[in-house]
Amino acid sequence: MGIKTHVIGFPRIGSLRELKFALEKYFKNEIDQNELEAISKEIRLNNYKILKNIDYIPSNDFSYYDNLLDTAYLFNIIPQRYKKLNLSKIDTYFAMARGYQHGFKDVKALAMKKWFNTNYHYIVPEFDDDIELKINSTKPFDLYIEAKELGYNTTPSIIGPLTLLKLIRFTGNKNISNIKDEISLLYKEILNRFTCLGASWIQIQEPILVTDLSSDDKKLFKELYNNILSDKSINVLLQTYFGDVRDFINEINDLAFDGVGLDFIEGSKTLDLVNKINNKIIFAGVINGKNIWKNNYKKTIDIINKINNKNIVISTSCSLQHVPYTIENEEKLSDSYLRHFSFAKEKVNELNELKNILENNNNVLLEENQKLFNIDRNCNDIKVRERINSIDDKLFERLPKFSEREQIQKKKFMLPLLPTTTIGSFPQTKDVKLNRSSYKKGLISKEEYINFNKEKIKECIKFQEEIGLDVLVHGEYERNDMVEYFGENLNGYIFTDKAWVQSYGTRCVKPPVIWGDISRRGEITVSWLKYAKSLTNKPIKGMLTGPVTILNWSFPREDISIKESALQIAFAIRDEVLDLEKNGIDIIQIDEAALREKLPLRKEDWDKEYLSWAIPAFRLVHSGVKPETQIHTHMCYSEFKDIISAIDDMDADVITFEASRSDLLILDELKKNNFKTEVGPGVYDIHSPRVPSVKEIEDAILEMINKLGYNKLWVNPDCGLKTRGEAEVKESLLNLVTAAKNVRLKL
Ligand code: GLN
Ligand code: ZN
Repeated sequence: MGIKTHVIGFPRIGSLRELKFALEKYFKNEIDQNELEAISKEIRLNNYKILKNIDYIPSNDFSYYDNLLDTAYLFNIIPQRYKKLNLSKIDTYFAMARGYQHGFKDVKALAMKKWFNTNYHYIVPEFDDDIELKINSTKPFDLYIEAKELGYNTTPSIIGPLTLLKLIRFTGNKNISNIKDEISLLYKEILNRFTCLGASWIQIQEPILVTDLSSDDKKLFKELYNNILSDKSINVLLQTYFGDVRDFINEINDLAFDGVGLDFIEGSKTLDLVNKINNKIIFAGVINGKNIWKNNYKKTIDIINKINNKNIVISTSCSLQHVPYTIENEEKLSDSYLRHFSFAKEKVNELNELKNILENNNNVLLEENQKLFNIDRNCNDIKVRERINSIDDKLFERLPKFSEREQIQKKKFMLPLLPTTTIGSFPQTKDVKLNRSSYKKGLISKEEYINFNKEKIKECIKFQEEIGLDVLVHGEYERNDMVEYFGENLNGYIFTDKAWVQSYGTRCVKPPVIWGDISRRGEITVSWLKYAKSLTNKPIKGMLTGPVTILNWSFPREDISIKESALQIAFAIRDEVLDLEKNGIDIIQIDEAALREKLPLRKEDWDKEYLSWAIPAFRLVHSGVKPETQIHTHMCYSEFKDIISAIDDMDADVITFEASRSDLLILDELKKNNFKTEVGPGVYDIHSPRVPSVKEIEDAILEMINKLGYNKLWVNPDCGLKTRGEAEVKESLLNLVTAAKNVRLKL
């Protein structure tokens, strides 16, 4: 059969994070816009070389910061406060992404949110009443032309109108209905321009279709696309991913799309739905765009064979930007591991191979692939399995109950009203990173490594004491990353060297790989915390990462359930919690930064598929501590409006979370739900280099008190400080403590 291949998007950060480094230089004025563009072009060129045998090669998947921001910018959805800065085009764009602070000009960045169920963050477009919609950028067209000149007739890719409209935040009186017609005209215009340029296909991405939508949204979808697709002369691929389109089959059938991209990996119903789609080319997302294991060709072919429509293009399940670039950069892992892995470049090859197998009955390739799945990976640990099998329900229950613990802890710690604290990490300056990397490379001794960190801890404690924070941290200087660090101390984990995945803007993470059953190798954080405690009489907060986050920010196994992996990790972290407590650390924060992230996109799947094991896994970690030990947790992003009771059910004593970038909207919800856990909604945004003023923080605290009262309120930044510069952090924290003190006087 004639089979074609398609890739939704390719990592744009570069094989070795070239874009990140170029952007950072640009932001520091070390290179100019031309140099930035030249480096970006080089990245795109390399990507096209990898994609050259793919039938539908994407363009415009490249972005300097974020594709949704690009889309908003393309339509001139630029709030006035950024326009008023009077910057160049590109710097206006970056001001929206990162904020701008220069002389008397001082504007915050737009909000940032997680992109559906991934660890990638998009910039939330904001629409004010003064925005005049128009095509404001030539980027998609320029990139198409650039590729064409290189010899690739690409499929330009753009985020679709429904996803855009649903993700925009309207800040004035206008809403979706006021702009939907104009928006569809603009998309139409884009289709026309691409037609004129000679494109035969365009990929319009509508991931929003895999979420729960209302009947109004359905109507809107039909309306938008009826307009956009009328009298078109270009083929339109409606691309979905991260789930299935169970509510939209009729609409998709009725509209004049030429192809539909469906996710066969995460879409639990896709296989049932695909045969209900009529008269469209099926772009079957069968190569997992989120995990790093080799594709099992036999299983994939079985899936493809179940699709009745033989007009099939095989594709990735989502953009490959969610996996690392290539295993070729991995020099340390032996082939016994690497042969099981497939990163972006290798996944492209998998598509080419699958095409070869399907078209030419290439059994050699197929058998070669099958051999991999018959190898015993040697990854089971009987002791771990026994511990899991003998779990007793009592392990999920901390006693006494929260209200009693709260009183006991108030008496014990005697903290002032509005206690101040931080989320854990302090700036990872060059010397801190150098110390760690020198030690890893064997350039310095263990003793030198430890002594350097101790010096840092000493400075950090001294600083926190000086400015008057109430609950201190040790600064996390020993950690590269909150998940990798724990993974390194757990059996069952393996690590890559250069397998970076973009998290937001210039920030990348290197998720470790869960290879086998998980257990703790020995004490992980205890010695650092004991040292920190010896330096001060103030309370010290131990700092751990929770099981759900460790799991969610790792590449998970595909041979056992993620629930089982989560429980294994929970036991390992529980052992560490109890060791910290034994060593006198009586405040322990267990970060669940990523808890919200893997919540299924459909409400009907939340409990059964996720919360029913994620919350118990967290409880298992801390259920063994004494009543007077205070358990904190931290979550990035306050987008937990709908799961507030589940968060309360984690049964921590204190929770800190992001709030500043979302205008504190979450506070009303906490109030409405009678949230029992003490809370520290972040009073300023650490994702931007901007220093918040005392007044601004005071206002935030007052607003919080206004909504939540002051009895349960903590004052803290909204996340760890490791990505920030030292000078900013000092100023910001001093302002934070001053603001808290000022407000205390008023109470
Ligand atoms: N304790 C971690 C830190 O401060 C938490 C990081 C996070 O929430 N992403 O770095
Ligand atoms: Zn955080």
